[in-house]
Amino acid sequence: MPKRVIILGSTGSIGVSALDVIRSLPDELSVVGLAAGQRWESLAEQIIQHKPRVVTVSDDSGATQLRKFLKDRNLATEVWTGPDAIERLVDTVECDLVLSAIVGIAGLPATLTAVRKGLAVGLANKESLVVTGSLMVEAARKSGGTLIPVDSEHSAIFQSLHAGRHDEIERLFLTASGGPFRTWTAERMRGATAQDAMRHPTWSMGPKITIDSATMMNKALEIIEAKWLFSVDPDRIEVVIHPESIIHSMVAFRDGSVVAQMGRPDMRTPIQYAMTYPRRLGSQCERLDFSKLGRMHFEPPDVERFPALRLGRQVAEMGGTAGAAFNAANEAAVDLFRAGKIGFLDIAALVENALARHSYDPHPDLNTLMAVDRRARNEVSQCCPV
Ligand code: NAD
Ligand code: MG
Repeated sequence: MPKRVIILGSTGSIGVSALDVIRSLPDELSVVGLAAGQRWESLAEQIIQHKPRVVTVSDDSGATQLRKFLKDRNLATEVWTGPDAIERLVDTVECDLVLSAIVGIAGLPATLTAVRKGLAVGLANKESLVVTGSLMVEAARKSGGTLIPVDSEHSAIFQSLHAGRHDEIERLFLTASGGPFRTWTAERMRGATAQDAMRHPTWSMGPKITIDSATMMNKALEIIEAKWLFSVDPDRIEVVIHPESIIHSMVAFRDGSVVAQMGRPDMRTPIQYAMTYPRRLGSQCERLDFSKLGRMHFEPPDVERFPALRLGRQVAEMGGTAGAAFNAANEAAVDLFRAGKIGFLDIAALVENALARHSYDPHPDLNTLMAVDRRARNEVSQCCPV
């Protein structure tokens, strides 16, 4: 029987790559549910191809059009909509794995539902783990659910960790391409536009994470993500700039050995590993050719130009509500930047401010986290420095 997969965020960059992998492994993986935001036309094509039992869309008018489209073609897929449709999908449609790939806080409720249900969750939606932190880890421990990283760095660490025991870990090295502004001066970065920030040197991704890579908020989120996924203190998580994005991350063990996972920068590799875990199956992905690769480069990150890294480390150390304030402020600031309402350097400044001003609670429940999220989001949305 193929593994039954639900993909949350199926029309996004990760979702489309995941469906590509599933198409290439028809005996191993099948789609039983898809959740998408607003592009019902792309979802319609995915339904024709994969024939899931249920899909969800965010907007009612999209749902109406999609239902008509499916009826005209005699396709039996049910279309659900409404505020709790995605959670209901995860809660009621039988599956073996949920791939959580909605962007931002919108992915949180369904991801938490899947974890609480004890399902295997392929986690791309790092924001939900950053916001909930110990709540999600604890929910997985209680339910017996597993969080399998999809983020390339965390997949690399997850794979490298098979080489040793947890008490043998010395450090985790998160690699970072450095983004499009790696070589820019702070002055030049001040004038960077959303278009500049969208030119990622090595990865092709959705717009929010691409901006996060330019500010290095993405790496900050990843420090926090690594802390929760692997139970490693933030002071033992190091960021290394590696512009070629060939080494996806590394684990240093106490005997001095460093174990790395490498490959071409293609998200289909970590997505496939998460979906077929614990097995490794064949893949058509382009292979690494070391003779063509020549050299690989490494440099320390510049925390002055990229204050997000300092903030990410601070949030990882604080725990509690810090992740919720940090993530919400960043999501709101990225929206403002994309709308041309604030400058590039304002993103980190607004996030730092929101983090400092939020009322910190070291042991919050979900309601408290959601309240912190709303407040930080509102505060940032309301103050446009331009
Ligand atoms: P994307 O913007 O390309 O896609 C987002 C998906 O979420 C779309 O299908 C969209 O319709 C859906 N969506 C958005 N808001 C929604 C809502 N309110 N309700 C239902 N669906 C909604 O984003 P992406 O680049 O694929 O990233 C998805 C997640 O994966 C993010 O958390 C990102 O950090 C993480 N991630 C992405 C990459 C990558 O290579 N793209 C790598 C690592 C981690
Ligand atoms: Mg990553």
